Amino acid sequence: MGKKRRGRERLENCSSCGRAVPRDKAVEYSKRTHFTTDMKGNDNVTYTEFKDLYYCISCAKHRGIFEKKKQQARRKRERDMYG
Ligand SMILES: [Zn+2]
Repeated sequence: MGKKRRGRERLENCSSCGRAVPRDKAVEYSKRTHFTTDMKGNDNVTYTEFKDLYYCISCAKHRGIFEKKKQQARRKRERDMYG
């Protein structure tokens, strides 16, 4: 029992390389997956799944997460303005 737990620091595993990253250093990215049965009328079923993914900084850079987040933020701003 030599290891000290450091406060309330939560660790998340990077979705890409699996490295453990402290929550405040991890890059959070919400991935949206949309399912639809593509049927006309009441039988049509649509389902949207939100998944929160965490990436370490280097994987986030590598995968362009920062760009995606920027785009998401811009879209949200536009929606708020014209919505
Ligand atoms: Zn990573």
